[in-house]
Amino acid sequence: MIKIPIDLATTFYLIISVIILFMWIVFEKKRKYIEINENTLWKCPLCFYEYIDSKNKDISRCPRCKALHKKDEK
Ligand SMILES: [Zn+2]
Repeated sequence: MIKIPIDLATTFYLIISVIILFMWIVFEKKRKYIEINENTLWKCPLCFYEYIDSKNKDISRCPRCKALHKKDEK
């Protein structure tokens, strides 16, 4: 069996744990960012203005031309 010093093994184990945790946090943030953008990004069919509206899900008012429009209206 290969002999590894206990302090080296502990350090190695801790480094791997930190890397996994860091990667998980990064992926989670990326996923949430994409989710927020898909659900709250609106594009006005009249003036093609893009804006964020997190309060409404189905219908929204364009802040530029004040027109009401539905989510999938083209
Ligand atoms: Zn508009």
